[in-house]
Amino acid sequence: MAGKIKAIRGMRDILPPETGRWQAVESAAREAFALYGYRELRLPLIERTELFARSIGQDTDIVAKEMYTFPDRHGESLTLRPEATASVLRAVLENGLDKGGGVKKFYTLGPMFRYERPQKGRYRQFYQINCEALGSDAPEVDAEVILLLMEILKRVQLGASRLLVNSLGCPECQVKFKAGLGLFLINKEGLCEDCQRRRNSNPLRVLDCKSIHCREILKDAPVLRDYLCPDCAGHFTRVLALLSRFGVTYEEQPRLVRGLDYYTRTAFEVVAVGLGAQDAVAGGGRYNGLAKELGGPDLPAIGFAIGEDRLLEVLPENLGQGDGKKVFLAALGPGARDKAFSLLQTLRQEGIAAEMDFGERSLKAQMSQADRLGAAYTVILGERELETGQVVLRRMATGDQQQVALSLLPMVLAGL
Ligand code: ATP
Ligand code: MG
Repeated sequence: MAGKIKAIRGMRDILPPETGRWQAVESAAREAFALYGYRELRLPLIERTELFARSIGQDTDIVAKEMYTFPDRHGESLTLRPEATASVLRAVLENGLDKGGGVKKFYTLGPMFRYERPQKGRYRQFYQINCEALGSDAPEVDAEVILLLMEILKRVQLGASRLLVNSLGCPECQVKFKAGLGLFLINKEGLCEDCQRRRNSNPLRVLDCKSIHCREILKDAPVLRDYLCPDCAGHFTRVLALLSRFGVTYEEQPRLVRGLDYYTRTAFEVVAVGLGAQDAVAGGGRYNGLAKELGGPDLPAIGFAIGEDRLLEVLPENLGQGDGKKVFLAALGPGARDKAFSLLQTLRQEGIAAEMDFGERSLKAQMSQADRLGAAYTVILGERELETGQVVLRRMATGDQQQVALSLLPMVLAGL
């Protein structure tokens, strides 16, 4: 016989009760998005390879070595999306969602795919919650987007974390900075192979290198802040002032550049304390030039992505477990089972989660099933209970039992 088929390396099943925690995060995010005026986009998981190659940048790790790219049956090169921003912009431009004045605000949830080395906090299929605000370069939008991110993280009870911010400047600042950084790197020995190549083609990428050697060398490298033009410096100062006004604690991180080429001006990351090497739970920034890059109009924009897999690693175990009060109906004998089946539907119609077993199992077996299902209450129905019209209601946590008239049961349970 052939062996069992297993999931692909780096791709995992997310199972109950864990899925309940995921739902809690996603509902919290949806509520916060609604408060801030964001609407959902549902986008394809597959796009033309060119979309990502053009937007994310050829020298990035993502495009150079992490994409799931394959020819379709007609030989066209397609890619499983490694991130959402490029797809969001593609969809916005294609559907004319950028038309009309004002800031256009969208969010999207779902899986991303990157061929990375699987490890704790790093998967080949992982999930993001994405936020994008398009159509304005106002620093208020930057502040609002960061406030929204912090609101979501607060709602899911993220514990100790740090918000890191930087400004990457506009293309003019970046040209000057790249020249300065290039000069600094020119004679440096010991850079990794990637960085030796990048120091000529795209020195900004060197700042994002994960190698400890490269990081050590970069300690004395010039910082972007010193290269910002007056407009970019003013923009950044205003963003920081707004964050302070709303009591958001941030740390300026002058070497933060993020892993994609399209960022301009504000860039930020939230790192969670206690996550080890993969500690970034969210990242984002401005990408004012991206729409043009993709053949669209001048459309300044900013966004963020929350990494759900990593975020869930540090959230409370009981997140979303709340006070759900499920009822299990333990029935003994055919008459009682028949009655219980009717009661089951009555309870569900009253909005009370209810379950029963359809086999002919002992009371003991049914009680342990109730436990396994996490029932808060069990109702015991036997032939005698049917005769008297009184059932036993047992509170599972304490073992307390009380007699309740069958006809009053839905009302009593609703009131608990
Ligand atoms: P890292 O530096 O950890 O590789 P990144 O800069 O590549 O992250 P982004 O592209 O900014 O990550 O994606 C935003 C978030 O998505 C990250 O902060 C992280 O939480 C999450 N993320 C990115 N790659 C993975 C992955 N392979 N597995 C799980 N989560 C991921
Ligand atoms: Mg990465």
